[in-house]
Amino acid sequence: MAKSLSPEACADTIRRAGFVSALTGAGISTAAGIPDFRGPKGLYVTRAHDPEKVFEVAAFDHDPEPFYRFSRDFLALVEAVEPTITHRFLARLEENGTLGGIITQNVDGLHRRAGSRNVLAMHGDYSTAHCRRCGREVSGEKLSEGMATETVPHCAECGGVLKPDVVFFGENVRCLVEAESLARRSDLMLVLGSSLTVYPAAAIPYYAGGEVVVVNKGAVGAASGPGVHIVDADLDGYFKAVAEALEM
Ligand SMILES: [Zn+2]
Repeated sequence: MAKSLSPEACADTIRRAGFVSALTGAGISTAAGIPDFRGPKGLYVTRAHDPEKVFEVAAFDHDPEPFYRFSRDFLALVEAVEPTITHRFLARLEENGTLGGIITQNVDGLHRRAGSRNVLAMHGDYSTAHCRRCGREVSGEKLSEGMATETVPHCAECGGVLKPDVVFFGENVRCLVEAESLARRSDLMLVLGSSLTVYPAAAIPYYAGGEVVVVNKGAVGAASGPGVHIVDADLDGYFKAVAEALEM
C-alpha cells in the first residue's frame, strides 16, 4: 500500500525536485463545475448525451449533430467556469521555473486559461479542427465561428464537415512520445485528479524518473512502487495548503 503525504511534505518534495511534471485528469476540473464524463453526473451516467454517438468516428461521419449538440453544451459550460486553485497553482509552478510541463487527459482547455504554457493534451481539445473531406486544418476561432452560424460547421474550401481535434474512441491519443519523455525527465511527477484507469494515460506514471505523488478524491487504479505516494483528498484544499507551505 502506497503511503499518503501531508501537504507540507508534498511542498518539501516539490522544493527538493529539480524537474517537476504533472499529469491531470477530470478531477482537477470538477471543482470548477465541469462534471467528470464518467463521474456520477457525467454524460455516461445521465445519458443527456449518448457517448457512443458523441465520440465514435463512424457515428460522427454518419451524423455529426449529436457530437455538436454535446459540444455546444460542453463549451458553454467551460466558458462559464473559471480555472481552479489547482490549475492556477500549476501555472504558477511553471512560471517560477519548477514545473516543466503538464500532460492532461482533459479537453476543457482550463490549463491554458489558467496561464500554463507547456500543455500536452493527450485527448486533444477544441483549439483546432480538421475537415473530414479534404483534411484541411482550421483554427479554433474558425470552428467556433462555424458553430455559431451552422448546426454543423463546414469547411470553407470544400464544404466537408469539420471535426474538432478531440480524440474519439479508437483514435490514437496525442503527444504520447512527448508525454513519455516529459515523465522520464521528471524527478517528481504530480498525478492530479486522475483515477488512472484510462490507458494509455494511466501508464504514464510508470515512466516517471523519480517520485510520484498521486492526489485524487477517491480510489485510483494503477500506480504503486517505492517512490509512489497516494493521497485521497480534495485537490483544491490540498494544493491551497501546499502553496501556503511553499509561500507562493
Ligand atoms: Zn475541406
